[in-house]
Amino acid sequence: MKILLVGAGLSGAVIGRQLAQAGHDCRIIDGRPHIGGNCHTERDPDTGVLLHCYGPHIFHTDDAEVWDYVNRFAAFRPFQNRVKTTAQGRVYSLPINLLTINQFFGTTLRPDEARAFIESKADTSIADPQTFEEQALRFVGPELYEAFFKGYTEKQWGCSPSELPASILKRLPVRFNYDDNYFAHRFQGMPAEGYTAMIGAILDHPRITVDLSTPYAPAMAETVDHVFWSGPLDGFFDYRLGRLGYRTLDFERFTVAGDYQGCAVMNYGDSDVPYTRITEHKHFSPWERHEGSVCYREYSRAAEPGDIPYYPIRLVNEKALLADYVALAEATPRVTFVGRLGTYRYLDMDVTVREALDTAAAFLDGVQGGTAVPAFVQNPL
Ligand code: UDP
Repeated sequence: MKILLVGAGLSGAVIGRQLAQAGHDCRIIDGRPHIGGNCHTERDPDTGVLLHCYGPHIFHTDDAEVWDYVNRFAAFRPFQNRVKTTAQGRVYSLPINLLTINQFFGTTLRPDEARAFIESKADTSIADPQTFEEQALRFVGPELYEAFFKGYTEKQWGCSPSELPASILKRLPVRFNYDDNYFAHRFQGMPAEGYTAMIGAILDHPRITVDLSTPYAPAMAETVDHVFWSGPLDGFFDYRLGRLGYRTLDFERFTVAGDYQGCAVMNYGDSDVPYTRITEHKHFSPWERHEGSVCYREYSRAAEPGDIPYYPIRLVNEKALLADYVALAEATPRVTFVGRLGTYRYLDMDVTVREALDTAAAFLDGVQGGTAVPAFVQNPL
């Protein structure tokens, strides 16, 4: 079969690879001049630092099959994300852990004491938190919410945390011990030469051709048997029902000699600091040594037409428009919508790889007379 995959990020690469290995001819196009989508990494020619060009990406998963899969295409180095945050004039450890709690409240609480203390701050009248704000007030109480989440989230999402789904905050644990590993997954690491090299290795197959700087045109679909679309869901339909909300990021790059902040990610919780975080990229490759350092101040804003979409906003009241686009997608034959933009969900890389493997398997199953590949991965807001 002839397959067109739109988007040379993780979804397109993994699906393309699986189908190519099964004997199908895959053409992958991308409007940008590089593969890798928003995972794209490149070496800064001046300092030699490996840059995460569209913001930090740290691979973490509990899925052994996904971990094995990515390790086939890149040598991974151990990496644990230890995020710090500057709030109300002080630096704290994230995710919220016993050190954060004790420093913030000036206490020396042990785990059980801290748990009881935080529970005493929590609003236990919120039985089933629906919004980000309710989730925060229920589980950490007003002081920690104000210091670490409220301002950051307003900057990141451009709206009140009371309009955002609780699922966004559920990404972050609260720990009553001194474990400051941002992710709780068994497998964590960084591809030593970056994600673009890894995705290049996934794409390196004789049945895959990649055309960069090549925007999609509907006529392309007519010459192939099936299309996998990893661009924005609403973009496939020319935004005919209106635009789903996305946040885009602006990066203000600066270089320094030596070490700027001593860690890879420093968040800024206060609302009067206009950026959300500063990333210092050499700290994402701690096994390398570089004299110079490249940092990005990260600013979030609403994506306008022409901007690169990063985060699907998924406002609670955006459900109706999304449902209409999902209905359109499901009624579109020979097209499968995949990935973060194609399914309009806040996906981590490991989930993206898992879904890409499953989507490819379902497609191959359908080709062989089994269940047809779903047009759209169902997942409620
Ligand atoms: N968040 C926050 N303060 C922080 C870090 C995160 O309020 O210091 C909130 C914010 O709304 C963010 C969400 O938690 O969008 C998820 O954080 P994560 O670190 O997973 O964001 P990502 O790195 O994917 O942008």
